[in-house]
Amino acid sequence: MNMNKSIFASFFMFLIVSCIAGCAASETQNSKTVGMTETVTANEGASAEESDKNEKGTVVILATGGTIAGAGEAGKETGYKPGTLTVDSLINAIPGLTDISNIKAEQICNVNSDDITSEIWIELANRINEMAQDENISGFVITHGTDTMEETAFFLNLAVKTDKPVVLTGSMRPATAISADGSMNLYQAVCVAASKESRGKGVMVVFSDKIFSARSVKKVSTYNVMAISAGETGSIGVVRNNEVSFYEETTRKHTVDTEFDVKGVTKLPNVQIVYFAVDADPEMVKYAAEHADGLVIAGAGAGEFSEGFIDAINGFDIPVVISSRIDDGIITQDAVLCDKTVAANDLSPQKAAILLRLAIMNKTTTKDELVRLFDTY
Ligand code: ASP
Repeated sequence: MNMNKSIFASFFMFLIVSCIAGCAASETQNSKTVGMTETVTANEGASAEESDKNEKGTVVILATGGTIAGAGEAGKETGYKPGTLTVDSLINAIPGLTDISNIKAEQICNVNSDDITSEIWIELANRINEMAQDENISGFVITHGTDTMEETAFFLNLAVKTDKPVVLTGSMRPATAISADGSMNLYQAVCVAASKESRGKGVMVVFSDKIFSARSVKKVSTYNVMAISAGETGSIGVVRNNEVSFYEETTRKHTVDTEFDVKGVTKLPNVQIVYFAVDADPEMVKYAAEHADGLVIAGAGAGEFSEGFIDAINGFDIPVVISSRIDDGIITQDAVLCDKTVAANDLSPQKAAILLRLAIMNKTTTKDELVRLFDTY
């Protein structure tokens, strides 16, 4: 009897969620850049009894798309379209959100995160830097696809100029799947962005109850809801209900302490990543060098590659940074195979590329300058 009741309750909940997502999907425009500003403010027209809400700051949600805004066949985890639902649909699916904070929302774009560009990164950084001046704003949440979330997080960690929390989140299941994870992740991200404890901690990612710092966060699974991790470094805190607890802190420079400012910049320099494997053709790395301002090599082991790659790389005049295709570990400067190249320390190829792009933007590209940058950030 109890079992029947719980099956009925689950089915009823699923119908409600599907309906919310379905209705929201039907009102979505098919354009990639929505560029529309929407505001949901909890304390609008508030009575005296609700004045405690006025004491709460405002969390700004900047939506960029991804699976968290994805919609597809009801109940299914695959075959959906990321970047379909608008930010107001995501917010309206979480009734308790405005108990945590006042919410202001903007749709920056609505794309699969594989279509994120450096222009979008710069727009996000400059928008955050501008809005952070408003003393009523306590923090920022960015909804984002998980594929490139770690890249956007690391870029912002180096480029935003505020100590107010900036928190990225997303989901592995689209809003139309059974037990979609997006609403809980967004709720927890808002809790972290609203918390005074989160100030000065750099850009963070909140996912499946855990808080990660931008420098070490990475996607580690193609399918399951625990897809975001930080390898050897681990998470820096957890969220339970609306309580935020921090246990660790990042030691590398970030946000207000970096030398990178993207005000007035429209696009980052072109840095390409070349992946080494057995029989990798040195002509490929030469081609990449001819078409880029800088290169990152995803080497084998501690950043190693063949004699053919060594000969090719020794002939390049552009900056080359050596990272590894191995998930965890460090590459030290004394271990690099080519004299002119710079070790990425423990940065993944995709994160090393971001630091190199910012270095080239700042025209800090001598070997000594690059060694300093990779030791600092
Ligand atoms: N392809 C999706 C995206 O990155 C995957 C996700 O969001 O989980 O936008």
